[in-house]
Amino acid sequence: MRHRGQFSRSERVARSRLAKLVHDQPFLCGSLVSLNRVCGKEGCKCSRGELHPGLCIALRVGEKRKMIYVPQALETTARRWVSTYQEAWQLMERISQSCLDRFLRGKERVRGAGRERTGQRGKRR
Ligand SMILES: [Zn+2]
Repeated sequence: MRHRGQFSRSERVARSRLAKLVHDQPFLCGSLVSLNRVCGKEGCKCSRGELHPGLCIALRVGEKRKMIYVPQALETTARRWVSTYQEAWQLMERISQSCLDRFLRGKERVRGAGRERTGQRGKRR
């Protein structure tokens, strides 16, 4: 049985997972960047060139791209929020792929109908 608007199983799974993520999970549309930094404390090893490993989130704030430093205590949170965004993005891509398949099938049908019309016109000649 065919229903208009019925999704394949894999598309349904992707859609419901995406809806769940967007509905109740925090996320940040950015990417994590490891960055070595200087802490500024006098006499610290970093002043001699031994930098502290650090983490930043690269994201857009309004029109501007920014690097936001992540304190160690928030690293796990930052990683989770960015990875939620990445998963949501992958799900969007998967759903889009299914929609593209559907679109291309629709295009085939339109083209098929076009050929029929051409055929009829041919008969009339
Ligand atoms: Zn330091």
